[in-house]
Amino acid sequence: MFPDPERLSGLIPPHMLERGRVVWESYSEPVKRLLEQRRMPDEGWPEDLIAALLWALSRWDTDKDPRAARIGEREARVVSRLAELSAFGFCHGIGRSGTLVDPQPKAPGASMMYALTNRLLEDFLSRLGYSVKAAFAVPGATGLAISLCLSGLAEGREVIYPYAAHKSPIKAIRLAGFDVRIVDTEIDGDEVVTDPAEVEDAVRKSPDPAAILATVTFFPPRREDPLPEIAEICEEYDVPLVVNNAYGVQHEHYRDVINRAVKKGRVDAIVSSTDKNLLTPVGGSFVYSPDETALEEVSRAYPGRASAVPVVHALISLLRLGMNGYRELMRRQKECRRLLDELLEDLESRRDDVRVLDVYNPIAAAVAVEGHDPVDLAARLYVKRVTGPRGVRADDPFGTSRLRGYHSDYVTINAAIGARREDVEEAVRRFEEVLEGG
Ligand SMILES: *Cc1c(COP(=O)(O)O)cnc(C)c1O
Repeated sequence: MFPDPERLSGLIPPHMLERGRVVWESYSEPVKRLLEQRRMPDEGWPEDLIAALLWALSRWDTDKDPRAARIGEREARVVSRLAELSAFGFCHGIGRSGTLVDPQPKAPGASMMYALTNRLLEDFLSRLGYSVKAAFAVPGATGLAISLCLSGLAEGREVIYPYAAHKSPIKAIRLAGFDVRIVDTEIDGDEVVTDPAEVEDAVRKSPDPAAILATVTFFPPRREDPLPEIAEICEEYDVPLVVNNAYGVQHEHYRDVINRAVKKGRVDAIVSSTDKNLLTPVGGSFVYSPDETALEEVSRAYPGRASAVPVVHALISLLRLGMNGYRELMRRQKECRRLLDELLEDLESRRDDVRVLDVYNPIAAAVAVEGHDPVDLAARLYVKRVTGPRGVRADDPFGTSRLRGYHSDYVTINAAIGARREDVEEAVRRFEEVLEGG
C-alpha cells in the first residue's frame, strides 16, 4: 500500500527514484503524522488519501486473510462487493458483546480505525475548548446514544426531563427502561426557560430519581437549560446528568455552557450528532465526558457488535475538514446567522404581520406571525422547496416546549452549519412569498 523506497531501487535511474520518493513522501506525510501523533490534522486531507488509509486499515481484518479457515457463524462473509465497498471493507464491524470500545479479535483493522477515530474526537473537542477527558463515536444517532447513556449510567426509576418538544429524547428514556418525570418550562418575555428550582423540586419529589436529561440545543423560543445550575443539583443529590447537545458543537456558546457546568457540578455524558455537527450521513453520534469511568459504563451498555460505517463516516469528516476546515465552517455559520437576523429585521420593518422574537439562539431565529396559520406557512415553504422551518401554533403543547402553551404562533428559521448565504437569502425570500399568500 505504502511502498518502502528501499524496495523500489534498481527499476529506474536513481535520480528519478529520488524525485519520485520526494513526491510520495510529501503526499503520504499526513498519514505518517496522523499515526505518530494521533491528533486532528490542521489541514483537511484529499479524499484519495483518506480512501487509501481506510483501505489499508481494513486489510488488517481477519476476513482478508487469504489462508484463514473461517467457520464461525459471523465471518464477515459479504455476498456483494457493493455492500463491502459501502462498509469501506470493515465488514466485521466494531465492538464486542462486553463493550463497544473493546478491540474485536476478528477485526484488528476496524478496532484500530475506531480507536483512532476516538482519539481524533477527543483532540477535536479539546482543541475546540471543551473541558472533557474522553470521547467515543456511537454507531447510532443521537436519540439512541441518549438511551445508551441512560442505560449505562442511570440507576433508579425516573429520569427527570425539563420539557423540550422533541419526541426522541422521551422515547430514548423509555427505551432505556425508565419512566419520564417532566419539568414544565416557563415564559420569560419571549423566551421559554427552565427554572432550576423546578428541577430541584422534581428531584426531591421523585420517589426514585435515576438521572436528569438536560437539553442545550433547541429551537427558539426554547432557551438552553440552565446547565451549570442543573449540574450543581446533580452533584448535591448524587444523580447522573446526561446532556443532549444534539447540534451544539458548531457554536462556542454551547461549549461555554457545558464548560461552566463541568466546573460547577456533575456532568456524566454529553451527546452530539455526527450529521448535525460533522456533516456526515445520518446514523452516528458521539458521547464525551469529563469523567472517563462514566464513558466506560456507557460503552459497556451497548448490546453486541455494531456497524463500523457511522464511525468511518465520522473519521472521514474529521480528516476531510481538519481543524482549519471546521473552524472555517463555524465562521461561515455565524455569518449566515447574522445575515438571517438582518434579513428578518428588514422583513419586520416592512410588514406588520411578523415580529422577530427576542430570544437568544446562535443557530436559529423564531418569528411570531399574526393572521396566518404557522403550520400552513411551514407546509407551504416545504412545497416551495425550503426545508428546515418549523411552524408552531401557540396552543400546541408539543410544539412550544411549554405544556401550558405560548403567547404567539411562530415559525422557526435556521442558519445551521453547512448552510450557505444563498440558502438563507432564498429561504427568507420565499418566506415573504408565502406570507403574501404565494
Ligand atoms: C436531532 C435531535 C434529536 C434526535 O436526534 P437523532 O440524531 O435523530 O436521534 C434529539 N434532540 C434534539 C434536540 C435534536 O436536535
